[in-house]
Amino acid sequence: MSYEVTATDGEARAGVLRTAHGDVPTPAFMPVGTKGTVKTLDPVELREVGTTILLGNTYHLRFRPGDDVVAELGGLHRFMGWDAPILTDSGGFQVFSLRDTIVAVDDDGVTFRSVYDGAAARFTPELVAEIQARLGADVAMCLDICLPAGAPSAELAEAVRRTSLWAARQRHAPRPPGQLLFGIAQGAADPELRRRSIEEVVALDFDGYALGGLSVGEDRDEMFETTAWAAPLLPDDRPRYFMGIGDPEGVLEVVERGIDMFDGVLPTRTARTGSALTWAGRLNLRNARFARDERPLDDDCSCPACARFSRAYVRHLVNQQELLGLRLLSLHNLRFLLELTARARQAIERGAFAAFKHEALERLAAARVEAS
Ligand SMILES: [Zn+2]
Repeated sequence: MSYEVTATDGEARAGVLRTAHGDVPTPAFMPVGTKGTVKTLDPVELREVGTTILLGNTYHLRFRPGDDVVAELGGLHRFMGWDAPILTDSGGFQVFSLRDTIVAVDDDGVTFRSVYDGAAARFTPELVAEIQARLGADVAMCLDICLPAGAPSAELAEAVRRTSLWAARQRHAPRPPGQLLFGIAQGAADPELRRRSIEEVVALDFDGYALGGLSVGEDRDEMFETTAWAAPLLPDDRPRYFMGIGDPEGVLEVVERGIDMFDGVLPTRTARTGSALTWAGRLNLRNARFARDERPLDDDCSCPACARFSRAYVRHLVNQQELLGLRLLSLHNLRFLLELTARARQAIERGAFAAFKHEALERLAAARVEAS
């Protein structure tokens, strides 16, 4: 079995996912390496701040440089210099979120125009399985149909039907030895459709399961409520992946509801806005109050940025749009989320997750008041 639960605390779980490139302790935050890179960071640095598994984007790598090129050069691990686990998405999320580029969706697959050059392209379950095989992903994801929040229920039902149809086909498509395959349940926050989607996908017996179609613009309370009843419907002995959440508060909420894996671009996107995620709240380094601040970004952080540089220096770099500023903030923000996740895991192991979460949320909320 590729997944083992090692401790539970309420619905929250700690565990280990075993992959061809090593073990991943869960809960696990997966930094997103969209185009074969986590923006501005070297894989050695990713390791140093505690990354255990990276997410790669099938859509982008398919078109640039091409999965055939990556395969010729030894696969994505070798190509990007990362020898630890990689999960690749199916590319479906990009296709369905770039809605203007969709030409046609039918039971066989989806035809769209590439965002790079407008050329016609088509994804089918069999093709995304092939692409993820060429990339050499440790964990591959099924092609699914993810709709934005508020989609009409007839459209949602059709997305659930096709997602199951495609999952069944991809389940039986050829796969490289050792590659794990996760199924994805859709259905937004609709109780009947979400339940149906989970039942149909779980019946296909995947190595792990994702809740897709959440965190797509719906109300946050509704998203957490859906997670609370949907996560326990997934098998206990398989990893559960919440697609697309990476803010500190959100991570704590989904872990409490039984989620083991999650990904998000928030750490690097926040860095690009000149902000640092800290236990003292979100710091906007552009603010003049940091001009002579000699303290590190976060007193409670051991990342390279905090070990060696002051807020005043990072602020200077950000204001001058120096690349080092972006790199230091990206490193720090990643470290913050990975450390938060690691502490959540330790709290689950101690049977103290509720107290840990309560204290963490209080610190983050108090800081927000102070920062505003
Ligand atoms: Zn730091």
